[in-house]
This record gives sequence, C-alpha cells and structure tokens, in this order.
Amino acid sequence: MANGGPEIEQLIQLLARLPGLGPRSARRAVLHLIKRKDQLMIPLSAALDRAVEAVVTCEVCGNVDTRSPCGICSDPRRAESGLLIVVEDVADLWALERAGVGAVKYHVLGGVLSPLDGVGPEDLSLDALIARAGQFSEIVLAVNATVEGQTTAHYITDRLAGSGVKVTRLAHGVPVGGELDYLDEGTLSQALKARTAL
Ligand code: ZN
Repeated sequence: MANGGPEIEQLIQLLARLPGLGPRSARRAVLHLIKRKDQLMIPLSAALDRAVEAVVTCEVCGNVDTRSPCGICSDPRRAESGLLIVVEDVADLWALERAGVGAVKYHVLGGVLSPLDGVGPEDLSLDALIARAGQFSEIVLAVNATVEGQTTAHYITDRLAGSGVKVTRLAHGVPVGGELDYLDEGTLSQALKARTAL
C-alpha cells in the first residue's frame, strides 16, 4: 500500500525504526513534514546533514557531542570535583545532566554485562574506566537496578578493589512524590534498608 511514491515510502520506513515510532506514527510524521515543507522538512533535512557531519563520540567518556573530548570532559569547572559517575548509556548521562547533579564527570559503559546475550567485559568500555578511575576520589555506579546492572556493578567493584578509590552506588528506594502503597515489595524493602537519619 505505497501511497505517494518510493521516496516517501522509504522515508516512512526509516522513521518507523525510531524508538517510540511505529509505521502508523511514521506515516503521520511524514505527512506532517510534507505539508510543512518550508517550515519543517527543509530545516530538518539540513539539521540532519549538519549533525551527520558534526557528531562524534568522546574519546574520554563515551558521551556524544560535536567535539572530542566532549563539552563535559573539557569543562574546567568539573576538573576538581573528584566524582565520576558511571552510566550504561548516553541517555542516562543526559538525564543526570538535566537533573543538575553538579560538577561531576561521567563514564559511559555502552551497555551492561549480560552472559545470556553474549555481552562480556571486552564489549564494554570497562578497561578505559579502570584506567581513568585513579584520577577520581569517588566512583558512583549509576547503573540500572536490573540483574545485569547489578552484575556489572559487582564486576567494577571487584576490579577496583585495592585501588584506594571509593566506590558507591545510587540509592534505590521511594521515588520523590511516591506513595508507599503503590510501590512494589522489592523497592519498599530496599528503601527500608537504605534508610537515613533525619
Ligand atoms: Zn567526554
């Protein structure tokens, strides 16, 4: 059911591969672009071209930016914080930055250890993490609270044992604005274990 020719159909198929978009949403998006060719389609095409040219992965931390080392790695205000936050993905780094966590630096692993999916230590940016860990006073493991995330956290803790670098992890517990009644038992028992003094 190709309406409008192969160029349009190809555009729909490509957009449908984006996270959160299926064929139906992609079709609506393409129609929207075509109707707003001057205001939206031409600027979008130009922005994509410019991004393709400019985007690089930071050689130090694995962040995505238009320069390497990235803006965060080359920010002089972050140099002396001593805090290195380890995340699975660039999306997690950006989420922490949006939350305004302060003058910290990051290390993007590029995934988590998952023997079932064939992901081993050599598939992640782990050697690079161990190599730079000594420059920091504390490594915060901000990996997801999944089995794979926790396995990865244990692996990193083992590799850094004896290095003198303090290793911590994010607290798990009651979300801000959360109601106890709605939490699952795992979250609730974790929150009780990680309770803090008032
Ligand atoms: Zn960087």
